[in-house]
Amino acid sequence: MNSSGTDRCWAEIDRGALRHNARVTRQRIGPETGLLAVVKANGYGHGMIEVADALQDDAQLFGVANLHEALELRASGIAHPILILGPALPQERAAIVEHGFIATVSSFEEARAFKGSPLNFGIDTGMGRMGCWQDEALAELEKISHLSQVRLHSISTHLPVAEEDFAFTERQLTQFALLVRQMRMRVPGDYKVHVLLSAGILAFAQHRFDVVRAGLMLYGSSPLPNEQKFLRPIMTLKSRIALLRDLPPGRSVSYGRTFITPRPMRVATISAGYADGFPRAQSNREASVLVGGQRCLVLGRITMDLTMVDVSAVPNVGLGDEVILMGKQGDEEILAAEVAERARTIPWEIFTGIGSRARRVYL
Ligand SMILES: *Cc1c(COP(=O)(O)O)cnc(C)c1O
Repeated sequence: MNSSGTDRCWAEIDRGALRHNARVTRQRIGPETGLLAVVKANGYGHGMIEVADALQDDAQLFGVANLHEALELRASGIAHPILILGPALPQERAAIVEHGFIATVSSFEEARAFKGSPLNFGIDTGMGRMGCWQDEALAELEKISHLSQVRLHSISTHLPVAEEDFAFTERQLTQFALLVRQMRMRVPGDYKVHVLLSAGILAFAQHRFDVVRAGLMLYGSSPLPNEQKFLRPIMTLKSRIALLRDLPPGRSVSYGRTFITPRPMRVATISAGYADGFPRAQSNREASVLVGGQRCLVLGRITMDLTMVDVSAVPNVGLGDEVILMGKQGDEEILAAEVAERARTIPWEIFTGIGSRARRVYL
């Protein structure tokens, strides 16, 4: 399905590239390890249902943030086990049990509230967000294992600096492996162990345990720049030229008048802005977009619905021409990592910030 000529900003999602990234993940973890595909936050902005549907044969489990997402995924026909990564609100527990979603719990007290649900016992080894602190985790797990109505699905932890501090992460993983060995001895059972997020899969695959939780890398963005070449970005964020004007020197462009034309300039007004997910924080940071396969600088501040760019150097530019905000055109490519760097944020936030106004088009 192609975008219609009246779309002003839209995101094309390449399902073939998505499956390529799933195969890269599979290569890294080997045939025996389970792949939990993280599809929370509307599949990192790519469309949760469509992403999960495309990954049905590649993933053994799906990960979501909360009950709402789990219900929506199940209602779409996905039959895989669904793990809720975040802590459940007390009001969400009954429905989680009823639907058999895997709940993540941080304590014996919390575990006790889930009568009949499969549980993922979270252990805090440095993330400080959820989970039972590692020194108390063995005793807590033993108590949980004595609960008659509880089925332990898995134990897990999370890495806070997998792409930033390799020494800390290596120590964290080694210590956790030791803890897991003690747990396996004291609490026998067929529960799984999962730890690695994308950066962990790419840098620490030797510590893959039973299941990995892949998010960002499936969407084709690598947290480690060196590994980007193995992945294929799956989203192309596109817009169009809505207006072309030739401005003389000395004209101010956009709110705040932060840009003044230094010479005659052909300025295109493109039909996308920060409401579509093209971050305003990139303004006046030498951000560019692609027009006719060429990089064109963003001029002045990005506004809610419109962005001005310098197309002086692009031959044969015309009204309605496609503009790439993120993705590839000709030999040029703008990665989510580049947009994120200019906006002083991370690719995760760029993807999840793509506005609901931008239609998702699946290839
Ligand atoms: C979101 C999330 C992931 C995925 O992280 P990526 O860096 O996107 O791969 C993994 N584990 C947990 C607990 C998460 O919340």
